[in-house]
Amino acid sequence: SREWHLVRRPQGWPVAEDFALREVPVSAEPAAGRILVRNLHMSVDPYMRGRMNDVKSYIPPFQLDRPMDGGAVGEVVASNAEGFAVGDHVLHGLGWREYAELDAQHATKVDASLAPLSAYLGVLGMPGLTAYAGLFEVASFKEGDSVFVSGAAGAVGGLVGQFAKIKGASRVIGSAGSDEKVTLLTEKYGFDAAFNYKNGPVAEQLREAAPEGVDVYFDNVGGDHLEAAISSMNVGGRATLCGAIAHYNDTEVAPGPRNLMQVIGKRLRLQGILVSDHAGLQQQFVQDVAGWLRSGELRYDETVVEGVENAASAFLGLLRGENTGKMIVSFTG
Ligand code: NDP
Repeated sequence: SREWHLVRRPQGWPVAEDFALREVPVSAEPAAGRILVRNLHMSVDPYMRGRMNDVKSYIPPFQLDRPMDGGAVGEVVASNAEGFAVGDHVLHGLGWREYAELDAQHATKVDASLAPLSAYLGVLGMPGLTAYAGLFEVASFKEGDSVFVSGAAGAVGGLVGQFAKIKGASRVIGSAGSDEKVTLLTEKYGFDAAFNYKNGPVAEQLREAAPEGVDVYFDNVGGDHLEAAISSMNVGGRATLCGAIAHYNDTEVAPGPRNLMQVIGKRLRLQGILVSDHAGLQQQFVQDVAGWLRSGELRYDETVVEGVENAASAFLGLLRGENTGKMIVSFTG
C-alpha cells in the first residue's frame, strides 16, 4: 500500500519535494475491533497546510516521515469488528493512503445509495457542516439579511451562498479568483452578484456589488477581503471567521484590518468557528441538505483528481485555486 509522508516542513508555499509517496506493508487480518479499508476517495483541505507547520494549534501538526491523515471514504475489505462487514462503506480519518487499518470506533458507515461516496467529504461532510453551522449558528443568519461570502466557488463558500438564498437572504454576493468561477456563482448557484477579486480592489468591487451594505460576512480568505467586508457591513452585522487562506503560506504575520475601529460604531460581531464544535447540528444538517439536494434547490461541484500518486499535487492545486467546489482525490480509476 502506498501512503504520503511529509518529509520536510514547507517554508512559505509548499513544493512537491516536501512530500513523498512511500510503500508500506498492510496486514490483511486486522486485530480485534479493527477494520481494513481500501480508500476510494480522500480529501485535501486548506487546514492541512497549517498542520505542516510545527506549531501548537487546535489540531496537532503532521509528523515528519509519518503518514499524513485526513478525511477519506473507502470500502471495508477485512473486518474484525462487530457491525462492520466486508463491502461496507465508511468515512474515517486516515486519508493520504491506499489502505487504512483502524479501530472501527473511528469509522462511520455511509450509504452509497443515498449519495455518491465523495459527497460525504464535501456537501454532506465536514465542509457542508462548516457552511451550515457558520451561517446559521455562528453568524445568526436571519431571513432578509444580505450576505457576502469569499472563497465562494470553493467547497464551503458555494454552499454558504446557496444556503443563504434558500433561507431567504435579500441579496447574496460572492467573490472568487476567476471569471469562470464568477459566472458559476451567478448562473448555477443563484448568487445575486459576484466578482473576481483579481480584477481590482476588493473594497471597491464589494461596494459596487452590495450598494445597500452587508449584514453577514462569511470569511474564508482574510486579508483585504475581511477589511473590505468590515467597511461594507451594516450596523449590527455579523461575520463568521472561518478561514484565512490568503495567509496560510505567509512567512510573516500579516497586518490586521486597518478599519477595525468600525466594529465599535457599527456594533459588529466577528466570531471564529471550528466545525468540530458543531457536531450537535449534524442530524439537522444532513436532513436539511439531503432535502435541498433532492429538491434540486442545492447544487454542488467537485474537482476530482485521479490516483493516489497525484494527491500531493492536488493539495498544491487547491491552494492555488485549481478547484471548483470540493477538491477530491479518487483512487477508483
Ligand atoms: P476551497 O474549496 O474554498 O478551496 C480553497 C480556495 O481558496 C481555492 O479554490 C481558491 O479559490 C481560494 N484561494 C486561494 N488563495 C486565495 C487568496 N489568496 N485569496 C482568496 N482566495 C484564495 O476550500 P474549503 O471550502 O475546504 O475551505 C474554505 C475555507 O474554510 C478555508 O480557509 C479553510 O481553511 C476554511 N475551513 C475552516 C473550517 C473551520 O472549522 N474553521 C472547516 C473547513 C474549512 P479562488 O480561485 O477563488 O482563489
